[in-house]
Amino acid sequence: MSFRHLAVDLEKRRSAHLLRQRTTVSASQGALINVNNKYYLNFASNDYLGLSQDIRVLQSYADGLSEFGASSSASSVVSGYSIEHEKLESALCTALNKPAAMLFSSGFAANHALCHALSPENLPAHIVCDKYMHASFIQGAVDSSAILKRFKHNDMAHAQRCIENLPPDLLGNSLVATEGVFSMDGDCGKIASLSELISHTASASLTANTSTANTSQQKPWLMIDDAHAFGVMGKNGFGSLDTPIDNIDVLMGTFGKAVGTSGAFIVGSKTLIDYMVNNAKHYVYSTAISAAIAKATSQALVLIKEGKERESLHNNIRLFKHLCEARGLTLMASESAIQGLVLGSPDAAIKMSERLADLGLWVPAIRTPTVPKNTDRLRITLSALHQNKDIEALVDALSMTIPAYSQTLTQA
Ligand SMILES: *Cc1c(COP(=O)(O)O)cnc(C)c1O
Repeated sequence: MSFRHLAVDLEKRRSAHLLRQRTTVSASQGALINVNNKYYLNFASNDYLGLSQDIRVLQSYADGLSEFGASSSASSVVSGYSIEHEKLESALCTALNKPAAMLFSSGFAANHALCHALSPENLPAHIVCDKYMHASFIQGAVDSSAILKRFKHNDMAHAQRCIENLPPDLLGNSLVATEGVFSMDGDCGKIASLSELISHTASASLTANTSTANTSQQKPWLMIDDAHAFGVMGKNGFGSLDTPIDNIDVLMGTFGKAVGTSGAFIVGSKTLIDYMVNNAKHYVYSTAISAAIAKATSQALVLIKEGKERESLHNNIRLFKHLCEARGLTLMASESAIQGLVLGSPDAAIKMSERLADLGLWVPAIRTPTVPKNTDRLRITLSALHQNKDIEALVDALSMTIPAYSQTLTQA
């Protein structure tokens, strides 16, 4: 057989309960999904605000389709860049107070492209990032020429050592990165602390080396992957750049989560964005997202700022945490829409997820290597679409089924 490793890999995964399989969703209405002719309450969606079904977003999508057709039909640097793309970029710049923005077809492409842009072959960058950064960023760093150092998750003492160990003459070619809200744990990155560490290291290096011409040239950039914070966190819902924290130089966000459409963006300096428009192969050699998606996304940004759905979401998060606490269910620390219940083995996570499905609840098991060994878990995502009774049903089912599956609880 040719390419034998394919089958070998699959068998290995299957026997370790780590085989990934897709399920076909045949309908999605409100908080319900239909799989194999059965309806489930969906606690697996990243559509935190329910905007993917919002009639105003859908109308803008339809308007965009009738004005521009279903495809952008070309790369952004050929003829795929429409006035709707331009308007969306400009709305992002205004919302995030940054001079320039560009759109990508996915957050994965955006992160990968960013790492390549900052670390071309002939000029390796130093990247210091949180251990739990998303696979798209880590893969981007690994595939670029960057010298990658990861600090323990949210461990600022370790981050400080990593930042202080950056070569002083290469501080200006260094990137420090974390996430606004971590995708598997739901906790927040320590952006303000990292920003302080960067400033402190940069000024210490300046004092030590007076020959350095200018500070900004010698300062690491701070980059935030805001995939799960954009739309959910911040004064106007625009995530980590929407709270007065200075010194975020680059921010990546996706439209595939709270925004309810698809695609992604990067905001930053005009030089960075111009460079990427010219050099990022993910951008130059890829069809632009459709104008219709761009138009629907602009409408979603308006709704995010108004904040009605965000308020419902945060009410739901509070209710869920409160009900879990009352039942003695220990959740991972999180104020976001992502709530984790650790079970400790892939087998237990899968079995409990299946049991919940029997009860009509769609709650995915997340297993190693997506999360560290022995932290296999249920990853519950809440949405503005959930009603109180949905959340009550979930907590009832969790507390009823967990004794059979949880190793951590029986040990405690
Ligand atoms: C989902 C996600 C991405 C990738 O975004 P897509 O638009 O889905 O490709 C990047 N970073 C984080 C933290 C994510 O959760």
